[in-house]
Amino acid sequence: MYLADESWPELGSYFESQSLAFVPLGSTEQHGPHLPEGTDHLIAEALAREAADRSGYLCTPTINVGVSPHHRQFHGTMWVDAPVFRDYVESLTRNLSYHGIDRVIYVNAHGGNVEHLREVGRRLRDSETMYAIEWMWNESIPELVDELFDVNGPHGGPKETAMIQHIAPELVREDRLEDARDGGLVEWDQETGRQYGARTFYDAIDNTANGVLGDQTDATAEKGEQLFEAATEQLVNLADWLAAQEFEALMPNEHV
Ligand SMILES: [Zn+2]
Repeated sequence: MYLADESWPELGSYFESQSLAFVPLGSTEQHGPHLPEGTDHLIAEALAREAADRSGYLCTPTINVGVSPHHRQFHGTMWVDAPVFRDYVESLTRNLSYHGIDRVIYVNAHGGNVEHLREVGRRLRDSETMYAIEWMWNESIPELVDELFDVNGPHGGPKETAMIQHIAPELVREDRLEDARDGGLVEWDQETGRQYGARTFYDAIDNTANGVLGDQTDATAEKGEQLFEAATEQLVNLADWLAAQEFEALMPNEHV
């Protein structure tokens, strides 16, 4: 069920029996020479809407612009400042509670949003308004991601490339996959951009000249379909689990 396609009486029926919603969030930011700037919000929306179709839970419209100042050196990257993003997401989520939603899954596909969504979830829980949690698609299926790709990459790498090849193949510049790999940073690990334990970079361009990481030529639409199916299954399972919890049990514990 997609909120923006429903009429208010239809939504009233939903709120009578259910109190859970998926809220998809992504970004609009550079994803290298081969992927569209909408990569993250396309992934988040596709997963959230598929999970909503399969489970019957409600999916809201997508928040398309997130916290992405670390990609600003590349043409077209859009972002909002972190405090504005947190307040906007909090307000939007609180408004859902007015209709009876008391648990939300932030279906997220942009790493830069994570800490802010965690903070918003904490505020909503501390005020006992609702229970909202952040879910990042690739973190739900780490073994499969490792198994499918030799050289991964958290940004614009083969896993995101494969997902877009599956979701929106017309938006992948297939003839630039080698350029993406050769002009970026292929090998990436926890030591990258660190000195004596300190993280020394702030922006993507500090580590990668074309903005992306990993080996994009390792991506295929078939791998993308596997990722998409596995992540959707995790998301549906998470929603079923969350819907089954007692609201009180999701709220903060009393002080000892
Ligand atoms: Zn991305």
